[in-house]
Amino acid sequence: MQENYDVIIIGTGAGGGTMAYALAETGKRILVLDRGEYIPREKANWSPEAAYIQGAYRSSDRWLDPTGDAFEPNQYHRVGGGTKIYGAALLRMRAEDFGNLQHYEGSSPAWELGYSDFAPYYAAAERLYKVHGQRQTDPSETNTAEITDGYPAAPLPHSDRIQQVATQLQRAGLQPFPLPMGVDYDPGNQQRSPCILCDTCDGYACLLNAKADAQTCGIDLALRYANVTLMTGAKVERLHSAGRQITAVEARVNGQVKLFRAEIVIAACGAIGSADLLLRSATDEHPNGLANGSDQVGRNLMRHNVTKLYAIDLKTPNPTVFQKTLAVNDFYLASERSPYPLGHVHLMGKHKWQMMQPDFPKLVPQPLLKWLSAHSVDWWMQSEDLPEANNRVRLTAQGQVQIDYRPNNLKAHQELKRQFKQVLRQIGFPLLLEVPMPLKVLNHQCGTCRFGTDPANSVLDLNCKAHELDNLYVVDASFFPSASAINPTLTIVANALRVADHLKQRMAGKGQESLNLQDAFGIDG
Ligand SMILES: Cc1cc2nc3c(=O)[nH]c(=O)nc-3n(C[C@H](O)[C@H](O)[C@H](O)COP(=O)(O)OP(=O)(O)OC[C@H]3O[C@@H](n4cnc5c(N)ncnc54)[C@H](O)[C@@H]3O)c2cc1C
Ligand code: SF4
Repeated sequence: MQENYDVIIIGTGAGGGTMAYALAETGKRILVLDRGEYIPREKANWSPEAAYIQGAYRSSDRWLDPTGDAFEPNQYHRVGGGTKIYGAALLRMRAEDFGNLQHYEGSSPAWELGYSDFAPYYAAAERLYKVHGQRQTDPSETNTAEITDGYPAAPLPHSDRIQQVATQLQRAGLQPFPLPMGVDYDPGNQQRSPCILCDTCDGYACLLNAKADAQTCGIDLALRYANVTLMTGAKVERLHSAGRQITAVEARVNGQVKLFRAEIVIAACGAIGSADLLLRSATDEHPNGLANGSDQVGRNLMRHNVTKLYAIDLKTPNPTVFQKTLAVNDFYLASERSPYPLGHVHLMGKHKWQMMQPDFPKLVPQPLLKWLSAHSVDWWMQSEDLPEANNRVRLTAQGQVQIDYRPNNLKAHQELKRQFKQVLRQIGFPLLLEVPMPLKVLNHQCGTCRFGTDPANSVLDLNCKAHELDNLYVVDASFFPSASAINPTLTIVANALRVADHLKQRMAGKGQESLNLQDAFGIDG
């Protein structure tokens, strides 16, 4: 196995998988390392017991909570990372999210790049990840002047029951809109359509590989190029450095320690994984960890304040198969409803009784769970949490990952729940069962290596290169200076495409031809 490369990408999730695809056409020798393996295509992909009760495909990581108790986080170390089992809701952050936003319990800082810097990459990301949606239906989509194109595909169809709920919400004064979703669905040609809009998508791996994830839309396409090599089961344990250079990537592969070298090293291990790797790579020259002279690595961890809501209509059953089609953003920005932003709401995948089981006390009998599942419309309510230096990933003296995280801005979330539940009661859902998401649900982790121009309070520069190193980039969810209340993946993908453009130019400066983004992503993957 060759050990010298032009580029090494660590991680194949939304950031790393997208980056591998974006750089593949440069012809550079690219090594992609992932600690995980492919998820096998097997019946268990679509088993609710396997996915929701046994935690199939989940990592065996054990981390410590703020009190020092061990917990098993919702982490997926697989080719495609978290996107293999994600719910594929792919939304852009609002223009306002890039600015300084005042909240109930503080403010979320402005990003040093604006919406217009991300807009062309959002468009490319939506094409690459096959997003279905409809512009100008989301009331918080205020900056429509920036968006000149439509979604690549029409919105996914609502079931009859969800269409009914959408109409009721409209009558109650809300403006529900089609949730932008990344799946390879073609209603015009059912024979060709890889996606069958089944009932096991959100939280499952797709047996048909029809979900737009970082494997199908990133790694699989990258591997069409002979210059790209993927090595699975390769856990990167530390980065070696000398001065401002990463000199080697040390990985454990099949129990053996191997060193790989490259001119450019890109960490994309997820927000917690990348912070962990940098902290673990401390040396005498970088005693607090790599890129951590400012003590910012691992800090400002965010994850959203999230509550599931089972809205039960006692009379009307909900036979919906594919439910994740509707969203509500009427509470997203300050309005007459609230002086401060409250958050975002969307439907989850239809929860079968087995999926509900972990959310209820063990003594709730199966027949009751089945009845609840048959009558419930299942919502996901999420609000922005704010970056705080003390919310952080750190390593204990024994080298264990500790997640020091305490939720903040909870008033916004309480108010979101109160107002949305009021509307649901009004439209015929008398029984509303809330399930707050515990710390182990780190699905939307971000912010541990934020980008900015000031090395004193950021880890990465605006190209996502470490301030303190000349050849280290981080392109997963770590770079977020604030979380917004929107699901993170489309922004991670768009950013990876943006940084890839920068890297193409950087490498072109060394004699390689630069690629045009439109040419690169205008193709049908
Ligand atoms: C159940 C669930 C549902 C979700 N639904 C949505 C949704 O609907 N919409 C949305 O926008 N987001 C959703 N998310 C979140 C989304 O999956 C993440 O935001 C996204 O995957 C993060 O991308 P990333 O590149 O930061 O990291 P990841 O996708 O987590 O990728 C990190 C990769 O790095 C690898 N890795 C880690 N450490 C190492 C190491 N030391 N050496 C080698 N490899 C390493 C991992 O194996 C993994 O492949 C969901 C997540 C979950 C868990
Ligand atoms: S809904 Fe489509 S993309 Fe999702 S799991 Fe089913 S077939 Fe796959």
